[in-house]
Amino acid sequence: MRKGFLAPNRSGMSKNTPKAIRGTQDIFGPDAEAFAYVVETFERVRKLYRFRRIEMPVFEKTEVFARSLGETTDVVSKEMYSFEDRGGDSLTLRPEFTAGIARAFLTNGWQQHAPLKVGTHGPLFRYERPQKGRYRQFHQIDAEIIGAAEPQADVELLAMADQLLKELGIEGVTLHLNTLGDGESREAWRAALIDYFRGVKDQLSEDSQERLEKNPLRILDSKDRRDQPFLPDAPKIDAFLSDEARAFFEAVTSGLDAAGVKWVRAENLVRGLDYYRHTAFEFIPEEGSAAADALGAQSTVLGGGRYDGLIENLGGAPTPAVGWAAGIERLAMLVGELEAENLDVAIIPMGDAALALSQSLAAELRAAHYSVEILATGKAKKRMARANEAGAAAALVIGDDEIAEGTVQFKDMQSGAQSELSREGILEPLMELTTARDMAFLDDEIASLADLADE
Ligand code: ATP
Ligand code: MG
Repeated sequence: MRKGFLAPNRSGMSKNTPKAIRGTQDIFGPDAEAFAYVVETFERVRKLYRFRRIEMPVFEKTEVFARSLGETTDVVSKEMYSFEDRGGDSLTLRPEFTAGIARAFLTNGWQQHAPLKVGTHGPLFRYERPQKGRYRQFHQIDAEIIGAAEPQADVELLAMADQLLKELGIEGVTLHLNTLGDGESREAWRAALIDYFRGVKDQLSEDSQERLEKNPLRILDSKDRRDQPFLPDAPKIDAFLSDEARAFFEAVTSGLDAAGVKWVRAENLVRGLDYYRHTAFEFIPEEGSAAADALGAQSTVLGGGRYDGLIENLGGAPTPAVGWAAGIERLAMLVGELEAENLDVAIIPMGDAALALSQSLAAELRAAHYSVEILATGKAKKRMARANEAGAAAALVIGDDEIAEGTVQFKDMQSGAQSELSREGILEPLMELTTARDMAFLDDEIASLADLADE
């Protein structure tokens, strides 16, 4: 062996094979199925609420995020992937969707569509310490309503989030709801928080001491043990709410009650970003629930709120808006094992001529929307076992005799019954078998729903 050449080991990797970037994931198997299921379910629910799909660039000018999120936020001050491109512009890989969507709203003149309801999903990038449920490239689903000032928009958006979690079958996750008031209420609250925390400044964590003057709301969000004793007695927003802000919050909560969305008040809930006004919310697993166990410390699955100040920060006319985002990986961790989708037809060709025929048969069946696998290698018995494992409704065995006769051996995998059918005669029994299988599945679903209703 030549010097310097490193032989691949059994996994096919040698010492000089490049590694994946820390905090990125290659998603495969059940995790990938769960990921796709989250996205598909989001797409379905998005359409029920009539949110339009948008696709957004993965990078933007750095100022899009710096100006909209606020310089004092963790995301801008330490988590952004920023770089200078060859033209000398400072660009940033998007750490969130909202700022880019707000930028697009202005640069494309989407005002004409207001109120604009949009949804999207894709990768985001934050330079964080990777751990379970926290990555440097992660993915979100995102929903926004731009140009709607009324509390009805908040209610609809929250109802959509709630329905999404239900459709995903996620249990034990609760909507925590707060109001940050309007600009005026928020300023008064902020001043009171600064006063209060100044009195105990020496005992606060370094992070909170630093936040005290710039972003005191964030101290309420602190997970540091040293800050905890001072949080329960901190001034509450309710004491500072203007009449308008109070009425707005009441309209949101009564709307949620009417829509059947359960919520709890979380007086210390603030969002990390500066641009929020009025409604702020997070869906968080209940302590001791399976969801909390699955997620560990990184527990917020979905968060958002109203950001009436953001579009102005980007130089637009004042434009009310509200939105949320949810981590796809975190939702996928709560979805659990999905049942693999059953195969419809396994084609088992014996010999080269049969293989060629299998290709054309497979093309016809797939055009008729049956899922098909051609199992071309291995012993016949092994292939039949593989068809069975894949949950095939039928197996079609083709050998030289069948080719000569224009037939196939058609096997009902459920009963094991086998018959010789003409190639044209396959579709009808195939439809019967797959329909019977789908009906049996539906019966099971209905039975388990009935069980749930009984409980
Ligand atoms: P956290 O408090 O967990 O840091 P955040 O407030 O920074 O969350 P948001 O900016 O509100 O999160 O993003 C919305 C959702 O995106 C979060 O609730 C979470 O599900 C997901 N998320 C955020 N950061 C990450 C990450 N680094 N890795 C995986 N998912 C993430
Ligand atoms: Mg964060």
